Amino acid sequence: MSYPFELKPLNYAYNALEPFIDEKTMELHHSKHLQTYINNLNNAIKPHTEFHSWSAKQLVSNLELLPNDIRTTVRNNGGGVYNHYLFFDVLIRDSPPPMSGPLFNAINAAFGGVENLKAELKTAGLAVFGSGWAWLVTDNSGKLSIVKTPNQDVPELEKFTPVINLDVWEHAYYLKHQNRRPEYIDNFLNIISWNEAERIYAQI
Ligand code: MN
Repeated sequence: MSYPFELKPLNYAYNALEPFIDEKTMELHHSKHLQTYINNLNNAIKPHTEFHSWSAKQLVSNLELLPNDIRTTVRNNGGGVYNHYLFFDVLIRDSPPPMSGPLFNAINAAFGGVENLKAELKTAGLAVFGSGWAWLVTDNSGKLSIVKTPNQDVPELEKFTPVINLDVWEHAYYLKHQNRRPEYIDNFLNIISWNEAERIYAQI
């Protein structure tokens, strides 16, 4: 997807993740927050036709090639677009962790099991001060690790492919959980689409 970026419909209904993530939060997160990032990104690159064929990933991983006056806007809002497309894609109910296969083996190698991976992802999410993301990423050799980014920044995408990302901005949980980020993360960990994570991991 490139300019003009559009709000991609979710693969599921806003209430499909209940009770783990409530319908109103999903509706606002997708139709308002993501839409705002999309609008801001489109407005920023509209006058710069040489970037109209670039994907969100290309834009946010080549910020140094962008004109000075739109670099910060693209960093924040292009990141917002890229990050949320992955986030919404790796949420679903009833997709249990892999019991065999490449991702299963990689999780065991890096973390000693999926429960440990979840614990480390939670620790990373709690350690983000203010707004940001915790990520499960793989390097080009298939080695998994966990990284954190502030705001809407992305991991180093030339080195890492994101497999799962955890949004810890308050807009992701405040309506239901208020200040209780640990409770939100526990709920998030129940609705990771491991099928989608396996699909992403298989492509590296
Ligand atoms: Mn968000």
